[in-house]
Amino acid sequence: MAGLTLSGVRKSFGATHVLHGIDLTVSDGEFVVFVGPSGCGKSTLLRVIAGLEEVTAGSVMIDGVDVTGLPASERGLAMVFQSYALYPHMSVYKNMAFALENMGLPRGEIDQRVRRAAAMLRLTDYLERKPRALSGGQRQRVAIGRAIVRDPKIFLFDEPLSNLDAELRVATRKELAALHAEIGGTMIYVTHDQVEAMTLADRIVVLQGGRIEQVGTPLELYNRPDNLFVAGFIGSPR
Ligand code: ADP
Ligand code: MG
Repeated sequence: MAGLTLSGVRKSFGATHVLHGIDLTVSDGEFVVFVGPSGCGKSTLLRVIAGLEEVTAGSVMIDGVDVTGLPASERGLAMVFQSYALYPHMSVYKNMAFALENMGLPRGEIDQRVRRAAAMLRLTDYLERKPRALSGGQRQRVAIGRAIVRDPKIFLFDEPLSNLDAELRVATRKELAALHAEIGGTMIYVTHDQVEAMTLADRIVVLQGGRIEQVGTPLELYNRPDNLFVAGFIGSPR
């Protein structure tokens, strides 16, 4: 577990300036949700935190350590995307165990971690199945399980529920909330779904055009939006 500090984070792709100086501190164990319209830089910001993109300027600190120059593999984070990207030829068990095997963990430790995550995510009965024999919701739970077993300092989620139908989205959202209550990790979660943001977040970060418009608890943003953009985004269903 760890906190995160972003200071003056800028990101450009050539002449395209995507992030214009992001300052944000996330506390240890906090569930922070990034919201904002499509193209505002949510995924880029997550990728910068993960180390999948280099910053153009500014710094990223995890647990008080400057990781700005470190590659993704050395940051100790785990990312869950909207497309599950499971290995189709591997069982559920193997999908979760694979990264741990590559890390060289002892077999007993791997087994313990996989079974614990599977129990948490109600996947115990599916460990020997291949991804194609699972429902969309189960597959997404496997993707979340793969993150959990790595015991990351911070979980990064990029619209993890957007490929699920409405009913599954609600169910999986509740599981995520329960998961956070159970393991208490620092979670940074991107969505454009207002309900997800309002129900999951300790704090919401509203982004527009690569800048932070406002940061606050769901109630603060709902009751005291700083401007019309925030009011429109949080206040009215979309
Ligand atoms: P969001 O996740 O909020 O929808 P993104 O972070 O994916 O937004 O994208 C923000 C902007 O950055 C978009 O205009 C997108 O086209 C641009 N962008 C993202 N990645 C790249 C890239 N690798 N090269 C060039 N432009 C990019
Ligand atoms: Mg995105």
